[in-house]
Amino acid sequence: MSESRRFSRVRPLPAGSVQWTDGFWADCFDLCHETALPSMRRALDDPDNAAVLANFAVAAGLRDGTHRGTFWSDGDCHKYVQALAHVFEATGDEPLDEEMDEIISTIAQAQEPDGYLNTQIQLSDKGRWQNKIHHELYNLGHLLTAACVHHRATGKDALLRVARRAADYLYTVFAPRPPELAHFGFNPSNIMGLVDLYRETGEPRYLELAGVFVDMRGSQPWPRDLAGLAALGDPIVGDQCQDRVPLRDETQAVGHAVTATYLWAGATDVCAETGDEALLSALQRIWENVAERRMYVTGAVGPQHRGLSPRGDQVHEAFAADWELPNRTAYNETCANIGNAMWNRRLLELTGEARYADVMERVLYNSMLSGMDLAGTRFCYTNPLARGPKEVALLSHDSETRWFTWSCYCCPPNVARTIAGLHEWAYGRSDDGLWVHLYGGSRVEATLPNGGWVVLVQETDYPWDGAVSLRIVEAQGEFALYVRIPAWAEWATVTAGDGAEVADHETGYVRVQRQWQAGDEVLVMLSMEPRLVRAHPLVEHARGQAAVMRGPLVYCLESVDLPEGVPLHEVHLPRDVQLTARHGRDVLGGVTVLEGEGLRIRDCGEWEGKLYQALREPETEKVALRLIPYYAWANRGPAEMSVWLPLA
Ligand SMILES: [Zn+2]
Repeated sequence: MSESRRFSRVRPLPAGSVQWTDGFWADCFDLCHETALPSMRRALDDPDNAAVLANFAVAAGLRDGTHRGTFWSDGDCHKYVQALAHVFEATGDEPLDEEMDEIISTIAQAQEPDGYLNTQIQLSDKGRWQNKIHHELYNLGHLLTAACVHHRATGKDALLRVARRAADYLYTVFAPRPPELAHFGFNPSNIMGLVDLYRETGEPRYLELAGVFVDMRGSQPWPRDLAGLAALGDPIVGDQCQDRVPLRDETQAVGHAVTATYLWAGATDVCAETGDEALLSALQRIWENVAERRMYVTGAVGPQHRGLSPRGDQVHEAFAADWELPNRTAYNETCANIGNAMWNRRLLELTGEARYADVMERVLYNSMLSGMDLAGTRFCYTNPLARGPKEVALLSHDSETRWFTWSCYCCPPNVARTIAGLHEWAYGRSDDGLWVHLYGGSRVEATLPNGGWVVLVQETDYPWDGAVSLRIVEAQGEFALYVRIPAWAEWATVTAGDGAEVADHETGYVRVQRQWQAGDEVLVMLSMEPRLVRAHPLVEHARGQAAVMRGPLVYCLESVDLPEGVPLHEVHLPRDVQLTARHGRDVLGGVTVLEGEGLRIRDCGEWEGKLYQALREPETEKVALRLIPYYAWANRGPAEMSVWLPLA
């Protein structure tokens, strides 16, 4: 088998190398294992949900029925299997293995003899590859990734064989690059899935096909009827699915935000295998456009429910123009935010540059986690930065409260597979050492490419506390420990066991090289003072306002935390506000809240029947402020909420 990720500076550790032990991510993992996944299984068994596991049994002829749910239901079920496999890999929990065997057996029986598998097509008269809204490549892509994770976690190849048959079939259809399918691609998890399968099997045709999917997009002139459709508002041509401009020539982030981030993540996977510099420089150009102009402070992306791209194409669930980041109407689908994190993880591993780790962390703690409630059983689809009073209408897929089943169920299993596999994101290894990307109580056992061996224990109460201890339990050989200093840290210290402060910064990672001994310890201290953050002056919806952050967490104000009768929109933040961090075990599942004194600026006008009137001197009074982490919003019933607060 050829070596995979040849061009990556940092590679993930092998399966089974890392386990969360305690603290924030360990708690999230346990919640996913014990509550979220069993609850999700009940949702997938509910015939009225948008994702329905039983479709595979119907397609396999094991039970009567028709296809139920959305076109992308199969893909959502595959994501669930992937989440089970990640949890099994970390825990060895036998019933999960049995559950996966049962589901996989049905999936295998549903597969057509030629390898095709999409129950929404098989149980209809629609025909294959007729319309990209049918999400055939999305479903198959998630199948390939789930199969690779399942194979690594269990050593069993039942799902991997299904995936190989499906990928071999895809190769026969798409490798010849049929021009009529050049524009065929929506939510392209298939590119990541094919690279995953290439890495798992060593079969070069899968990598070749992933490259074909990257190159095909935007490669053909649009047929005239397609161009006409774009003008008429057909939802998935042109910028909507990033095929107006070939990826290598693209300069900005446009279109459907899940489709975009999945495309870029898959293309980054291809770069890691091929070293394609033109492709990487296009991705970096797009990244700068996203990170510097089109991303929320929570790491969320894709504000538009429906509208126009900057080039005038009809788009939905999409990126908007530079600095166009509205709060209450932000779409910010949980899947798009996760796609952004997945893309940044890949760029981080490819380049070793800390700026990607910063975005990845920003998403994970804020706009990924906000997609699930604190109990692990209810979800939301959109992740706006403000929620208005009751009389303000909700937009597409917004909901007053979090839900158990929904008309589109793509996000819940995406959150689950991300949390379930997050321990694999936390560390990496390069030719010369071990990298610590994410902070959280954990234990690592890994060999290093230079022949070293390390067992390391991380202890921390991050993100509530800024102290992190990295203790060597066993070590063999000399190697470097790469310790991440987030860009948000206003100050940070890294001290090695001998008490010496280490200041050898390398792109945000401090490199500590030693002949490590058992008992050696590296201590990281990160500033945890609450801080006010402002946005670029051209972000109209944040002008004159500030967001509050502490560590990696974005905070928000919910109306339930205000004194009776104080409307949220009258609450202002004094520039010199003193915020005190208070950790409450019984507050919202154990979070640190920020308390202080805000200013209520009270409009004294009579507004009945008026929209505008002459300016008057307002009344001001002090008001008690209590800010909660943004990810924990919408856990106490319907309420108004805002991340950005006007400055007094
Ligand atoms: Zn989604």
